[in-house]
Amino acid sequence: MARHTEAVCRLCRREKTKLFLKGARCESSKCAIEHKPYPPGDHGRGRVRDTQYLVQLREKQKARRIYGVLEKQFRNYYLQAARQKGITGENLLRILESRLDNVVYRACFAESRSQARQLVAHGHFRVNGRRADIPSHRLRPGDEITMRESSRNLLVVQHSLDTAGGRSKPEWLEIDGPGRRIVVHALPNRAQIDTQVQEQLIVELYSK
Ligand code: SF4
Repeated sequence: MARHTEAVCRLCRREKTKLFLKGARCESSKCAIEHKPYPPGDHGRGRVRDTQYLVQLREKQKARRIYGVLEKQFRNYYLQAARQKGITGENLLRILESRLDNVVYRACFAESRSQARQLVAHGHFRVNGRRADIPSHRLRPGDEITMRESSRNLLVVQHSLDTAGGRSKPEWLEIDGPGRRIVVHALPNRAQIDTQVQEQLIVELYSK
């Protein structure tokens, strides 16, 4: 399973914004962006001319990093989104949102998408009663996600549910925290996707 191996706070600093990759730490004064709000590296504080290409590239990198997707897979998602009816950028975000690891995170069963990814990869979840341990598993309307019986008392999940007060609960999911159950009512429209990504810039980048 491919994944990012770089220190994640560097990713936020590269994008010069909080990407919320580390759960509770992101809300605390320990957040690296609070102390070093400039890109990492020797030339991080140097002047860089913001060309249109650079703005589009950074937006794509930001989206990839938020959802924890590597370049090849992200491009494949874009190609699938472009083939679908409707607005390509919105389709792309909908595909990203329908990943199993994202849904586990959105339901507050994990503090971050990387934690959700690990929980899924370790086989703690079932989709429609069948073991699902692939984080990129795409969910469809009507799918039911449940935790394996023996995993329901996992402390990380309880802690995440207990401390998720400030996070918005998506309308497109039915979330039963105590029952460790999520139902996907429908895939979200753009207004229901709480993300800082400007998807149109990504479409412009890939359509060159
Ligand atoms: Fe990003 Fe969170 Fe690290 Fe802050 S603490 S830099 S938001 S990953």
